[in-house]
Amino acid sequence: MPEIVDVEIVRRHLQRRMRGARIVGVHATDAYVLRPASPSTFRRALVGRTVRDVGRRGKWLRLELDAGLLLFSHLGMTGDWAECEPRAPRERAERARLDLSRGRRATSVRYLDARRFGRLIASRQDIPEWTSLGPDPLSDGLDARALAGLLARHRRAVKEVLMDQTVLAGIGNILATEGLWIARIDPRSRSDALSAADVRAVVRGLRAVIHRELRHKPAGAFDLRVYGRAGRPCPRCGATVASVTLGGRASAFCPGCQARRR
Ligand SMILES: [Zn+2]
Repeated sequence: MPEIVDVEIVRRHLQRRMRGARIVGVHATDAYVLRPASPSTFRRALVGRTVRDVGRRGKWLRLELDAGLLLFSHLGMTGDWAECEPRAPRERAERARLDLSRGRRATSVRYLDARRFGRLIASRQDIPEWTSLGPDPLSDGLDARALAGLLARHRRAVKEVLMDQTVLAGIGNILATEGLWIARIDPRSRSDALSAADVRAVVRGLRAVIHRELRHKPAGAFDLRVYGRAGRPCPRCGATVASVTLGGRASAFCPGCQARRR
């Protein structure tokens, strides 16, 4: 599943290719991922619009178009945007393609999504999924005092709270798992039991993983210390990495060096 860093990388690509470009053609037939669900209404809303900016909050992308139109894109589990030639044959996972013109240059971007959990939403106003998002760790920064206030309001496991998009926008399973490992905090710890020092450690952990990913991910290499490593030795203390289910998600942690707060 794409995490905040993946979505930010997609945003940068789209910004480079789309800013200032006019949408001259829309090929979208999959009503399942489109809102409005009618492909012809969706197409009519977008054709002729110029892209002013490509923004992101958490895992949502928001394209600002002229005439007050917004295009929201969530990548779901398997979504991605890729540049292609305007006449390139349709790919199997292709759900929508936007033909663009900027000056004399014609190009296309297509939205690919094999499992179709993603969404493309054309709207004249911000959608609730966007307005309900908490602070974004990349664009708003992570503030330990503000985060301590948010965590103190919840009694659930700290990992579930970190992944709650209304608390922090864009923290997914990998970032929460790896960030808590760096912070040496057991993911099952009660959110409101963390001390100020614990929260500072969590902030340092999340920052470290986000920046490690942003540096290394575009090249594809990215080191995971506990995520997906249950049953193998912890790279810090050598104890066997365990896994529990929290909020329906597998959560790896090291019982040797991650302390549980109650
Ligand atoms: Zn360990």
